[in-house]
Amino acid sequence: MADIRIKTLTPLWTGGVDGKADRIHETGLLGSMRWWYEAIVRGLGGTACDPSRGECRFDREKFDTSTATDDHQRLRDAGLCDVCQLFGATGWRRRFRIAVVKDQTVPLWQGDQLLNIRPPGRNRGWFLPPGRMGEFTLRLDGDGESIARMLALLRFVERWGSLGAKPQLGYGAVEIQNWDEIEKPPKELWREEAQRLARNRDGRDRNLPNLCDFGFFRYRFQPVSAAWWSRIGGFERVVTQVRPFATQTVPVAPALKNAWRFQHWQRAWGNDQLFWGRVAADRIRSKVAVSWAYPYDDGWEIRGSAWLAGVRAEPVWQMLINTDTWNATLGVSGTLEAARPRTTDELLTFLERI
Ligand SMILES: [Zn+2]
Repeated sequence: MADIRIKTLTPLWTGGVDGKADRIHETGLLGSMRWWYEAIVRGLGGTACDPSRGECRFDREKFDTSTATDDHQRLRDAGLCDVCQLFGATGWRRRFRIAVVKDQTVPLWQGDQLLNIRPPGRNRGWFLPPGRMGEFTLRLDGDGESIARMLALLRFVERWGSLGAKPQLGYGAVEIQNWDEIEKPPKELWREEAQRLARNRDGRDRNLPNLCDFGFFRYRFQPVSAAWWSRIGGFERVVTQVRPFATQTVPVAPALKNAWRFQHWQRAWGNDQLFWGRVAADRIRSKVAVSWAYPYDDGWEIRGSAWLAGVRAEPVWQMLINTDTWNATLGVSGTLEAARPRTTDELLTFLERI
């Protein structure tokens, strides 16, 4: 068993009744963790089914008649991809339990009013629900091997990923408070995982998230004034709404996305609706996730990631990590750190630096 104390850096959204974030829902945490685990497993050369199709199904008879000597191969023979083996599928239960045991989070603002950030030139803008901020403890229970994987996954999520829903709107950046007290996963975990999974390598499906198609970035800055955020384009109308929580977190994602999509994007790079998302009946989720700003050391930090499949990755990536755009959009002067692992080997190096 492991108790992981988690502090939110940006609001956490795990769904709820009637669109209200009444508490932290484990299912919302699980969905996001599974999504990142799938992307890692694909990047390491393993198989991860498309959960929206519910393809995996445990076949007891095939399991019993498998001649494989290692358990993972037997499970694969029985119809389970590398992700379902851990997260469960029809006929096969999840290998770990997860529970929020001490939820001390509260809504970022009261009521269900949405925060409408409308950067210059936009008619509609972005609508942000409150989400929850604060600390909670995540209790993981299960066999040692599964717990180790989940801890390694959570460490990745803490450094570069997100928890819960709406990451594309900047929700779900978190910090683990008690990492030093936790029995850490072995340093070689991902490398061993890659060796084990490699036997299964069968080409990339570019329609499903794979960390080898991702870029990650982190921007840090030290504003001169405490009200640095109030001059960002689109904030004039929401100053009184944002001010009460502006020392905790500031919703900068709309301003950045607006700058990238409407000031810098070029048609030749690909379909902008597929990349930036579309709010229509066939809702398409944006491929860029950028967090809100949150305090870090004696300054501020913003982090994000982009799934660069389906577009001209190189110019798009260069646009996202262009520090001048960040500085100009936020009216501050910061530094940007970026990582873009493109092969399993590079991904392993990236994961091991975490
Ligand atoms: Zn599966």
